Amino acid sequence: MIRMHIGFDDTDSPRMGCTTHVAALLVEKLLKIGVVFTDYPNLIRLNPNVPWKTRGNGALCLRIECKESIVEEVMETVIDTIEKNSDLEYKGTDPGVVFFFNTIPLEVKDFAKKAIQGIVKMKDALRLIEKFGAEAIGFKTGRGIIGSLAAIGETLDEDHTYEIIAYRTPENCGTKRRIEASSVKEMDEKTSSFTFNNIDPETKRILITPRGPDPILYGVRGETAEAVKQAHKMIKPLEPVERWMIFRTNHGTDSHLREISTINEIKPFNPVIVRGFVSKEPRIIPVRHVVFSIKDKTGEVDCAAYEPTGSLRQIAKQLILGDVIEVYGGVRPASSKHSMTVNLEKMCILVLKPKFVLFNPKCPKCGKTMKSMGKNKGFKCDRCGFRDSKAKKVAVESERSIKIGLYITPPRSQRHLTKPYCRYGKEKSGELQKMIADWHNS
Ligand SMILES: [Zn+2]
Repeated sequence: MIRMHIGFDDTDSPRMGCTTHVAALLVEKLLKIGVVFTDYPNLIRLNPNVPWKTRGNGALCLRIECKESIVEEVMETVIDTIEKNSDLEYKGTDPGVVFFFNTIPLEVKDFAKKAIQGIVKMKDALRLIEKFGAEAIGFKTGRGIIGSLAAIGETLDEDHTYEIIAYRTPENCGTKRRIEASSVKEMDEKTSSFTFNNIDPETKRILITPRGPDPILYGVRGETAEAVKQAHKMIKPLEPVERWMIFRTNHGTDSHLREISTINEIKPFNPVIVRGFVSKEPRIIPVRHVVFSIKDKTGEVDCAAYEPTGSLRQIAKQLILGDVIEVYGGVRPASSKHSMTVNLEKMCILVLKPKFVLFNPKCPKCGKTMKSMGKNKGFKCDRCGFRDSKAKKVAVESERSIKIGLYITPPRSQRHLTKPYCRYGKEKSGELQKMIADWHNS
């Protein structure tokens, strides 16, 4: 038997298609010719902050075993299916396929990590493909080869989640998605300890149905394959479901965020986790974004909470100078209009600086609040006429309206990769996975 990892990426366009749908079609075709799947199809989200990202920046990998005699047929089927189901006429859709044999070397795993957290180059992908005797096919510019190799290299040994995706029939694509809202609500209530981001808690909007012309009717995310399948059974679609597929993914794992120790290490397009103290107070800029700066001994950077970040933006607005925070988010490079900016996905408030409010002093004779006689000229009492040229404003500590803790953008504006609140404590570690596997095998 031959072990094969089939990565592919960038088959869709904003006007049609979805690379996960191509994966679903391929699973059916490959099963028919006799391959054995060694994992669920992997749906790997790559760095959401690359400037040329495809929608959602998701790449796919199918991991299989097959007889040596059908390797050719497998490869032909894959290439043919990708060619027929890609939006090749669309400028900017540049599909790629990579066939990788046997085990995944560390170098390819590192390449994947870099593609999820930063920027990788085509020449690095091609070098690895050549070094390890893999085969790659690129359509047009072939840029999809980068994502294809990255999907192969992300073997999801650590934290991961599952998504079940139900697809629409071709004639329904582009029309309004029809699904019974009450069944989604019920599913959410019954499965919420094992699924996530079904409904936005602030707006009550259903999040499992995407918008746009792609063939996805809905997708449910969760901790296990069984959980998402269970959830899928509870949903009542009001239009035919063409097919469904369960993917193992890095959704909701924060795997795009890399912790760095100092602000001067921040690089454009590389999502970060970094600490600093608030050095410029939050200001509201059009259209209702909140921008502030954080600083450490190495540098200073702007942080922005955009309007759709809802509650996170409300919290950011109340920061004051000296608060110590940890920010999580993508990095936008400097432009003529703004300096380099961390776009907040999350924020952890570590230390809140006491806040003082200045009041005019009270009259020592009659107790009425005095009035200023001009800057540095002291205060006078309107009621009894008392004057004190040396009197100063009194600082009174006022309670902070925000608390120490972690704040996350609401599910409706979360990135695919953002780990939501409800997943904290449910992370799957490699060790834990191994323990569960051992327990099952014993
Ligand atoms: Zn007085």
